[in-house]
Amino acid sequence: AQPHPVALALVEAARATGIPSFDNPNGRMMEAGSGASISDVRADGQRRITIFDSYLRPVLNRENLTILTGASVQRIVIENGRATGVDVLRNGEVHRFNASEQVVLSTGSINTPRILMHSGIGDERELKRLGIPVMQHLPGVGENLQDHLCFPSIFEFREEMPPRGNGSEATIYTKLRSESRSPDVVMCQGEFPICSPEIAQQGVPQHAWSLVAGLARPRSRGRIRLRSAHIQDNIILQLNSLSDAEDVKTAKAAVELSREIGAQSALSEINKREAFPGSVFVDDLESFIRQSAVPFWHQTCTAKMGRDELSVVDGKLKVYGVENLTIADGSVFPRIPTGNTMAPCVVVGERASQILRAELLGENQRTSTVGNAA
Ligand SMILES: Cc1cc2nc3c(=O)[nH]c(=O)nc-3n(C[C@H](O)[C@H](O)[C@H](O)COP(=O)(O)OP(=O)(O)OC[C@H]3O[C@@H](n4cnc5c(N)ncnc54)[C@H](O)[C@@H]3O)c2cc1C
Repeated sequence: AQPHPVALALVEAARATGIPSFDNPNGRMMEAGSGASISDVRADGQRRITIFDSYLRPVLNRENLTILTGASVQRIVIENGRATGVDVLRNGEVHRFNASEQVVLSTGSINTPRILMHSGIGDERELKRLGIPVMQHLPGVGENLQDHLCFPSIFEFREEMPPRGNGSEATIYTKLRSESRSPDVVMCQGEFPICSPEIAQQGVPQHAWSLVAGLARPRSRGRIRLRSAHIQDNIILQLNSLSDAEDVKTAKAAVELSREIGAQSALSEINKREAFPGSVFVDDLESFIRQSAVPFWHQTCTAKMGRDELSVVDGKLKVYGVENLTIADGSVFPRIPTGNTMAPCVVVGERASQILRAELLGENQRTSTVGNAA
């Protein structure tokens, strides 16, 4: 389908500020360090295609696949340093599922460290403080939390332009800091106002679009901690966003660029005015950054792969010090990918399936598993 007029005008406006246009946001555009394009969207006509549609729906009738819905993993069972199963809450009862070969944890960057810690895998002192028996001291569990924190500038439409498609159809990468070797800012467009509660309170126009500028290479690091040993208790999410002064500088530069792009003639027939930062914040962009910051929903990196003391998994996605335990999700990235995180998470799943096939079936590790569930 033809992209929204704002998406097309945004790519043109970016070009007017010196950001070259590309046919798609992959490969060449990322390598170039700076570029704008219409986004790739996984869609079949008007319907988004999910990872479930691609990987699981085609194999639902396989005899060796069982999917349990409404089932919440509480902890991994560990015996003599080996993962032997999981405890799962379903219909108010806890069931134990034994694993003869391998437990693969793929519960995302918030819940993977949570389940690890409830299983006794984490920082020894913290686990002891909570009264959780320590199975493996790994101080990096829950540390290193990253996201592409972002700062939406909002432009009021001259005439109402309803969103269409997935509501976000253009992507920009750019390098604003001279010391950056790859893009340090990722931008997307929202065909509707995107804002924090603080900005919403100040009166956002009803008919508006957003230019969302995110930190592609954030330096601030957050962490996830358990509140208590009780599984049902909420976790403590310490984002520590903008705790590194360099992130504040990059964020300011990104918002300045958003304003410059929004002021280009390619958008003059669409924009009535710049609502935010606008006249309220123009002389105090740091306040705007702190009040407008919202997540990109790309939280990752909380059980990172590596070799230093904060690493949780090795190069084969195996948890250090615990046998038969693999992690396959966005928590294993040492640092957040520059762009959107869904596709890199799929690559982790593909890689996990290669590794497990090689281990369990003795196949060559380069065997392609595209289209198969891990
Ligand atoms: C609102 C939103 C919009 C996004 N938009 C985009 C986008 O446009 N493009 C893009 O590239 N990325 C996008 N992302 C990011 C992307 O979806 C994530 O980075 C990616 O899905 C992370 O994959 P994952 O495998 O690490 O975890 P997830 O996809 O979160 O998978 C974890 C799974 O584990 C399940 N789970 C968690 N805890 C338990 C438990 N205790 N027991 C059993 N199951 C459990 C969850 O229900 C979930 O199904 C978006 C994210 C959000 C939240």
